[in-house]
Amino acid sequence: MINIEGELKMEDKVNEDMDLLKSLDDLFTVKRGFVIKMPPKGESVAACLSGGMDSVTNIAMLMKEYGLKVYPFFINRGQSNYVYEKKAADYFNSFFKEKFPDLYNDYLEITVMTPGEEYKDLLRDAKRLVDPLPLRHNVSYPSRNPIIFLTGMEYAYSLKAKGVEIKTMFASYVSSDSSYHCGLTNTRLMNVLMCQILNDWNWQFISIPIERELGNFFDKDVYVKWGYENNIPLHFSRTCVKHFDVECGDCPTCWDRRRGYKEAGIDDPTPYKYEMSSEFPTYYDHEKEEQMQ
Ligand SMILES: [Zn+2]
Repeated sequence: MINIEGELKMEDKVNEDMDLLKSLDDLFTVKRGFVIKMPPKGESVAACLSGGMDSVTNIAMLMKEYGLKVYPFFINRGQSNYVYEKKAADYFNSFFKEKFPDLYNDYLEITVMTPGEEYKDLLRDAKRLVDPLPLRHNVSYPSRNPIIFLTGMEYAYSLKAKGVEIKTMFASYVSSDSSYHCGLTNTRLMNVLMCQILNDWNWQFISIPIERELGNFFDKDVYVKWGYENNIPLHFSRTCVKHFDVECGDCPTCWDRRRGYKEAGIDDPTPYKYEMSSEFPTYYDHEKEEQMQ
């Protein structure tokens, strides 16, 4: 089983609120007698498939390590790299269907624009104003993940009409994710919201890498290593947020990907457009080249 603590400490992270987290854990203990627990083998669960390395590995783990039946969803949210993320999602859809025919179900593509087109440019400008440090996009697009996962929850709930009972959904946040809308505090807070609006305190929202109830707090490198050891062709996943057909190699998400391989001690087979520059990258690098695409 996966059970690893990394070098990062949860209590040192700015996007975690340890007091709030404790209150939320206590609330779950009162409401259902436990905080979270992994569903038994054979149970149906929902998971986000973004086409990225973390969501792909998460789904593979849910099937291989935990024997869960996975109903993935892919959100068309107006992302600039949509075609590339979709291509990766399609690749892994076929891959998983072949490898796990009894556990994997085709993903559903759901269109929910977030951030709203009407204020996306304004939000982007606001984001630039509060980004004193690259790689510290703590607020980011603040509603993005909550909207993605509330939508996923609603899809999972709708499957009841097909006789599929889902009570658990998985995100794939890792220990280095630094936005407030990621992290364990947010995962618990979202879980409270889901339970309240479904009027079902058995509903669970879990991210395995950062789930302290499972003894975990691990980063991308553990995913990379697990994927490598289990023959998941992770180099076909899409990490880069830029509008190039190959990974740019020099945006903050690409840096994370390259760091994941490096820390896992595995040769990175991904083709990249640029070398990693010596300075910290920002999301605004290579914008000129992008526009010329
Ligand atoms: Zn990139």
